[in-house]
Amino acid sequence: MLALLAVLHVVSSIPTLGSLAKEVGGKRIETESLGKGYQDPHFVEPKPSLMLVLNRADLLLYVGLELEIGWLPPLVLGSRNPKIQPGELGNLDCSRAIPVLDVPTTKVDRSMGDIHPQGNPHYWLPPGNAKIIAREIAQRLGQLDPEGKAEYDRNLAAFEARVDAKAKEWEAAAAKLKRVKVVTYHKSWSYVTQWLGLEEIGYVEPKPGIPPDPQHLSRLISVMKQNGAKLLLMEDFYNKSVASLVAEKAGAKLLDLPTDVGATRQIKDWFTLVDTVVKAFAAAV
Ligand SMILES: [Zn+2]
Repeated sequence: MLALLAVLHVVSSIPTLGSLAKEVGGKRIETESLGKGYQDPHFVEPKPSLMLVLNRADLLLYVGLELEIGWLPPLVLGSRNPKIQPGELGNLDCSRAIPVLDVPTTKVDRSMGDIHPQGNPHYWLPPGNAKIIAREIAQRLGQLDPEGKAEYDRNLAAFEARVDAKAKEWEAAAAKLKRVKVVTYHKSWSYVTQWLGLEEIGYVEPKPGIPPDPQHLSRLISVMKQNGAKLLLMEDFYNKSVASLVAEKAGAKLLDLPTDVGATRQIKDWFTLVDTVVKAFAAAV
């Protein structure tokens, strides 16, 4: 039914961007995601079936900052869809207006193994950034579908009001996390720790994307003990055995968290995603 009514077919690299698009697009858009919420977004398998999905897209939404560089560009090229090629209106890099964290101060490229050479691409959880992404999407939808512009603007305003109300609740629930010292598996929690006031003191990966060696882990464990690190955060798709060993030896609690819509069946949209993360934090300390 919706498919018949929808004006635009929006395809996102990760489900959370599709969920934010749905908040502003409502019934005028239908959404589909290339990656699944339980997958590592750096490494989605570029199956030919995904080119077919992109072939019928009016708008492609992606995280940018090289998060999807290993798999998305060949799919976009192979889609034979002129509307979503770089530089076209149907191609939206959602990082455009984000205040990017962890931008390297020295020259870094992928040959050095660091997979965040343009700064940290894991920005979609904090309410402030979700509002920025939604605003960018609403503006682009209005350009692609001028008849729907008023509706997109209304939906955006309603979304922003809901986000502001939820943000107050979440910040109150997470107040006790301020200055709690944490270690994270991948350097992907910077935006969340900045939002909630947690203090990062180390990472299981020596550099983003580089697997740990035993020397790095033993140094990390002693830093955690010295500083009284309370939590070790990891995405649910990383190696849990390494993380649980580190947490156990350092006397910290391992928090295995979702970071995308669809990570579990209950996480249906951006609100339930952030709710799940904040509740897990609050319950852990
Ligand atoms: Zn990353």
